[in-house]
Amino acid sequence: MDDRFGTIRDRMVQEQLIPRGISGTNVLEAMRSVPRHFFVDDALRSRAYGDFPLPIASGQTISQPYIVAAMTQALALTGSERVLEIGTGSGYQAAVLSRLCSQVYTVERINVLLAGSRRVFDQLRYFNIVAKLDDGTLGWAEHGPYDAIMVTAGGPEIPRPLIDQLADQGRLVIPVGDQNLQVLQLVEKNGDEIVVRDLERVRFVDLVGEHGWK
Ligand code: SAH
Repeated sequence: MDDRFGTIRDRMVQEQLIPRGISGTNVLEAMRSVPRHFFVDDALRSRAYGDFPLPIASGQTISQPYIVAAMTQALALTGSERVLEIGTGSGYQAAVLSRLCSQVYTVERINVLLAGSRRVFDQLRYFNIVAKLDDGTLGWAEHGPYDAIMVTAGGPEIPRPLIDQLADQGRLVIPVGDQNLQVLQLVEKNGDEIVVRDLERVRFVDLVGEHGWK
């Protein structure tokens, strides 16, 4: 792999993640290993490990490294899970998840983004990720239920199909709020009981779809 960025990635972990409370050794290791610069435009490669989000195609964004790590940590993955992600975008978050679970299913509604992310997954030989074009607010019923679900776009509410497709004892993270500001919510399913906890304030692009913004 063409990877001149290993040292910069170590520094990202030391300076941006550990001081802000990312402590899971598996999460830190995944953040150290996935080459984030593969997921951005060539012109942005030198800024790929900065402490900020970056633009990708179609007016979308790849989240700041800390947010990727915090959302990943919230899912408390142990390695055996099947995980659903909504909003593939660049593919970076799916790639991080794929290092920490057995299988990632990811759904994107914009074709050029889907095509680009699939190319990078192949290039990096991340073969435990499958991606499809669809409205992810409907989930991906065929492969459910999922041990964990992550939504990487902000919606007005938690889409019902995602709660339905979450396994018992499963965890879901999603930014919920208006189109400017959301709160990251962690949903845990215990039988018929759904427990929702607020984590932190975040800003994501819109979750557009039947159970999102129209
Ligand atoms: N996880 C991505 C973040 C991309 S930004 C990454 O690591 O790069 C959020 C993405 O969600 C955008 O690509 C946007 O097109 C997508 N999105 C928005 N609404 C969606 C929906 N209903 N279904 C699937 N993808 C959606």
